[in-house]
Amino acid sequence: MNIVAALWQLQTIDQEIDEKTQRLRQVNKALAGDLTVVAASTTLAAEQKKLSDLRATLRDRELEASSLDAKLKELNQRLYSGSVANPKELDGLSKDLEMHKRLRSTLDDKLLELMDAVEQTQARVDVQANSFKQVETKRGGDVEKLSHEHETLEKRLAHLQADRDKTRAQLDSTALRTYDQLRRTKAGRAVVQLRRDSCGACGVTVPTGLVNRVRTGNEIVFCTGCGRILAP
Ligand SMILES: [Zn+2]
Repeated sequence: MNIVAALWQLQTIDQEIDEKTQRLRQVNKALAGDLTVVAASTTLAAEQKKLSDLRATLRDRELEASSLDAKLKELNQRLYSGSVANPKELDGLSKDLEMHKRLRSTLDDKLLELMDAVEQTQARVDVQANSFKQVETKRGGDVEKLSHEHETLEKRLAHLQADRDKTRAQLDSTALRTYDQLRRTKAGRAVVQLRRDSCGACGVTVPTGLVNRVRTGNEIVFCTGCGRILAP
């Protein structure tokens, strides 16, 4: 293989390595985490926390209601059992009973409100759990596809690397140094094909003598416009 053909081949390999490496980085990033799953999980956890807080409050209020019921029962018994005869004491008991009945009634309203809130929050938790499950299922599929792509990319890159080494071994150090430097300074395009008698990159017309040398010779010819290596 002549020197320019080898350089052209090297550049084709290097460009694919660049492209595959960039894609591999994107795949790795996508595999590392998915913000949609995190967001869905955070929302679900927040709703679940609200629900468990509400349930705890409801249980406390229910306990409060039980002890109020016991107190009411006790007051009723004392008031109507006939064991208390003193009118002043009876009046006091009666007022106490009324006060506890009012407390119980207020508590009933609160209990209804809480039960309503529990029901609504439970509904939101169900919706959120469902949406989290969907997001997670989709993520599972994505991860599978991404893992497969990751494997394919790594295999291809290993293959390209071997090809690259082989191609570089065919070139002398001066040609490689020139090529590497042009790749760095010319946006990855060190070698460019002629388009008729013009440079395929910058479009400058290449003198006929140079065109002939590019087409026939086994030598590096630079574009007079952009300084890239010209290939037939
Ligand atoms: Zn040029």
